[in-house]
Amino acid sequence: MRDTWPLLNKIPFPAIRRGQLQTLQVNVGYRCNQSCVHCHVNAGPNRTEEMDAATADLVIEFLERQRVATLDITGGAPELNANFRRMVTAARDMAAKVIDRHNLTVQEQPGQEDLPEFLAANQVEIVASMPCYLQDNVDKQRGKGVYDGSIRALKRLNALGYGREGSGLTLNLVYNPLGPALPPPQAELEADYKRVLGERFGVRFNSLFTLANMPIQRFGAILLSQGQFDSYLTRLQHAHRAENLDGVMCRSLLSVDYRGYVYDCDFNQMLDLPLSRGARERLHLRDLFDDDISNNPIRVAGHCFGCTAGQGSSCGGALKEAAE
Ligand code: SF4
Ligand code: SF4
Repeated sequence: MRDTWPLLNKIPFPAIRRGQLQTLQVNVGYRCNQSCVHCHVNAGPNRTEEMDAATADLVIEFLERQRVATLDITGGAPELNANFRRMVTAARDMAAKVIDRHNLTVQEQPGQEDLPEFLAANQVEIVASMPCYLQDNVDKQRGKGVYDGSIRALKRLNALGYGREGSGLTLNLVYNPLGPALPPPQAELEADYKRVLGERFGVRFNSLFTLANMPIQRFGAILLSQGQFDSYLTRLQHAHRAENLDGVMCRSLLSVDYRGYVYDCDFNQMLDLPLSRGARERLHLRDLFDDDISNNPIRVAGHCFGCTAGQGSSCGGALKEAAE
């Protein structure tokens, strides 16, 4: 697979610094029951990288020491990691909010039969990928049968109260374009999703997050092989809005890999751009137990235009909408 980093590294991006740490985003490994075309993690069933129990302990200790408000768990399919449920319950015991980046179909994997009930019992916020409300587009991007499996999973979550106003159980969906285009306006697309999924399946959810595809990993390699890398980057750069710089997720989030090393965001993690602090080349979570990293410079390059183009993209959806 061709690497886009040498090209991204040549593209300048405005200097930005970290704000107060609010979210610890933990990538527990790259194993996934799916292998989606756009996956910026390059995850799949054959990946073996996994967070071990000792590193999960460090995550829990870090949350406690730094009193981080939110634990955001991602992968791969994070629920396949043996330490997933332990981290969730430990964070909830500290009254931290927990977000699960959930691919829906993992509910039908062996051993995950009670996953929806576990998530509901711990009031875990679910952020689930659903790149379209139409079957063809979902199966094209995420694999045959994924749409039907996703609808079954959404119905199970709805039956537990997820997506119902006042239930305290939040279910958000994530849309990303199929190809090298910017996402359409979030509010309009959310209305379409609610109408189509509601009318056809009785499915309900809270919000739709629209995200641009990042020109890295599998999607980046496809752009290169199809000769579309330069035009996509130009499109992102032309759509850059300086006002989005304030809301990019790296300002308030610290990303941790399955070994415990830290990065400014999950995209930098995938590009192997460690958080830079002083002379240290690579920092581990344990190095930051008692450190305040606010005001630290963020490592930026051409891929960052994926976060600031148009309405902007963050792990909480469009920045423009989020600010409204
Ligand atoms: S479900 Fe998510 S982590 Fe798994 S391959 Fe698809 S995009 Fe990647
Ligand atoms: S990719 Fe986005 S979140 Fe990551 S460092 Fe760049 S601007 Fe920040």
